Amino acid sequence: MKKHKIWLSSPHMGGAEQKYVQEAFDTNWVAPLGPNVNGFEKDLEDYIEENSKVACLSSGTSALHLALILAEVSNKDQVICQSMTFSASANPIIYQGATPVFVDSEKDTWNMCPIALEEAIKDKIVKGNKPKAIIVVHLYGMPAKMDEILAISKKYDISLIEDAAEALGSTFKGQKCGTFGDFSILSFNGNKIITTSGGGALVCKNKEDKEKAIFFATQARDNAPHYQHSEVGYNYRMSNIVAGIGRGQMEVLDEHIDYRRANNQFYKEVFKNIEGITVFEEATQDYYSNHWLSAIIVDESKTGFSREDLRLAIEKDNIESRPLWKPMHLQPIFKDYDYYGSNVSEKLFKDGLCLPSGSNLTDEDRIRIKKSINKVLNK
Ligand SMILES: *Cc1c(COP(=O)(O)O)cnc(C)c1O
Repeated sequence: MKKHKIWLSSPHMGGAEQKYVQEAFDTNWVAPLGPNVNGFEKDLEDYIEENSKVACLSSGTSALHLALILAEVSNKDQVICQSMTFSASANPIIYQGATPVFVDSEKDTWNMCPIALEEAIKDKIVKGNKPKAIIVVHLYGMPAKMDEILAISKKYDISLIEDAAEALGSTFKGQKCGTFGDFSILSFNGNKIITTSGGGALVCKNKEDKEKAIFFATQARDNAPHYQHSEVGYNYRMSNIVAGIGRGQMEVLDEHIDYRRANNQFYKEVFKNIEGITVFEEATQDYYSNHWLSAIIVDESKTGFSREDLRLAIEKDNIESRPLWKPMHLQPIFKDYDYYGSNVSEKLFKDGLCLPSGSNLTDEDRIRIKKSINKVLNK
């Protein structure tokens, strides 16, 4: 009999989710507002602290779109975006009719390189088009170099948008990811560290911005008894059913982080003393990653096999793994936009592989993973 599939990252329910969903049915709050939405927002605000105000939305992508709207990005503007990321970080720039400018990663965190960022800003200023916003991402839960990036955003007075979709619970110098930017976004998609099946949130610095976000997310209705609109609105609010799942997931978030971090330790053990393979980990004590996904870099010149060889080999044992995010400046849809940096993200993409990282991996799963990987290592 074929063994069950081991996924990269699959939903992991804690148990309380259905209670909150049942409450929504019992009270007939089957709508894109209600006690679960308010409760989930409060849970998130308490969790990420720093007096953040959270608006729950239909997805992380819609949260990013609203962040750009609140940062007043228009079709004349350029927006700087980390190249190495999921396309959802960049697509909302296009929704706004703005122009993306992609920036390379650095080797410590795999996130936006502060040097390439400043180079991009300076060049754009010389050309008479100062960028309107910066989108920085914390890939796989690893915090970006937030000291430097914040300093640059302040120095040039450019809004900072933090894509913390993968980094709920991660910290930089003790401060939670999602609290550094003028706006930050979270995702609760099916594969994230907590999931509501689909959903996201915009984290704001004050109540006014949160209210503005909710205004735009609920069709931009003016204060009138009839339907009156002075601005373009969106249908981006979170459903009260989905928010119930979120409230249940908040009860197990810290546990999920512990499990994911333990997976990272497991891979460090598996690849200990293996020349040519490095497990992605925090560069210094300043960084604390939730290790949403554990990833490795395979140096083929030392291992004799590529990341693709490894991926295909473990796939035969019904174990999912996946190359790192393919940089946006290499994507057919984005290849003609400006790019600043060298080949760091390209090289990471070429040699990097994400390994099964779910908080619901069992000891038995880990034994299978280890065996399967060892077959390749010992060839
Ligand atoms: C998942 C993800 C998003 C998008 O979130 P959705 O909720 O799926 O819309 C954005 N950015 C990054 C880096 C992500 O991983």
